[in-house]
Amino acid sequence: MSSSPSPSPPSIRLGTGDLAKYPFLNEAGEYLRQSGFGWDELGRPDMKEIVWRAAERIRAGAAGSVYDKLDRYEAEIITFLVTLIMVKAVGIEPVLKKYALAEARRAEKFLTEDLKRHNDAQKRALLAKIFYELFGLAIEVTGDGRLFKVKVTDYLARSSHFHEQEWKMINRLVDGGYVYLDPDETVRLVRSELAVLISSRVHAMSLPPTSSLPVAIQEQVDALRTELAPRYEYRTVAAKDYPPCVKHALEVMGRGENLPHSARVMLATYMLAVGKSTDEIVEVFRSAPDFNERITRYQVEHLSGAKGSRTRYSVPSCDKLRTENLCFATAECAGIINPVQFGRRFRKKEP
Ligand code: SF4
Repeated sequence: MSSSPSPSPPSIRLGTGDLAKYPFLNEAGEYLRQSGFGWDELGRPDMKEIVWRAAERIRAGAAGSVYDKLDRYEAEIITFLVTLIMVKAVGIEPVLKKYALAEARRAEKFLTEDLKRHNDAQKRALLAKIFYELFGLAIEVTGDGRLFKVKVTDYLARSSHFHEQEWKMINRLVDGGYVYLDPDETVRLVRSELAVLISSRVHAMSLPPTSSLPVAIQEQVDALRTELAPRYEYRTVAAKDYPPCVKHALEVMGRGENLPHSARVMLATYMLAVGKSTDEIVEVFRSAPDFNERITRYQVEHLSGAKGSRTRYSVPSCDKLRTENLCFATAECAGIINPVQFGRRFRKKEP
């Protein structure tokens, strides 16, 4: 994704506070190994609180919130490990995606705070290490330490899918082959990569058979599955009679992946056009990794004309959806110019 990075930052020693903030670093696993912590410890009676914390961390992620505890460093490092085991054992992909995004946001908050500590050389070295080792992105501090610079090639590789004007090269401070960024912008560049990194760690984990999981973990896994699975069953069942473009969007959402803004507008306006209520449409979006019920409800109400401009938005035409790469036409789409027409001709022919 990026060009070859600049020389790696010097090796530095991480404290438990750093590992609690950034438990996805290899050093966190090494720390647990050196502390003698192994699989057998997970079944100890005193681990119940950790297992409970891990379940709360997954629940928060599935609800689109960020788990923000950082009160006991070692407990947080172990909690993160248990959380990965549990989210893998729960086995619901959209839950994993949402959890991974929530972990990325948690780390993003700490990264941004730490980047703003521009007088702390040790902290800056840690951050340079994180950016370099996890994302292959060399960041350098400039001037008074308030700005960071990254190579233009690295910047472009990551910012090309950001649509806001501020990310266009023409609006950036560029000098000597580098783009200059403030701490928030620097972290924003790697946000999605961090979520992908956490999901791929979970995918790569191998767990023992379910029957070998410690009882406390298995109980929480069963409770989470019972609680969360019904939220995601609706989408796969409901998708079957929709036009291919809508069906595709629902399938992407069902996998817990992010949909582009234009696809969300298409999905919401289509659902409104076929008579779904705001509540039902909000439910459709629940498996989006960045789901926020309040914002989603407002946006659906805005599209329906109940809020904002009071204009009811139409479903985009097939032509428009084609230009946005959102059309997945099949033979049944022949002759229609808007997704709301899908299936109507066929229904009229029925006796
Ligand atoms: S032709 Fe129209 S209804 Fe069919 S997939 Fe494309 S956009 Fe959707």
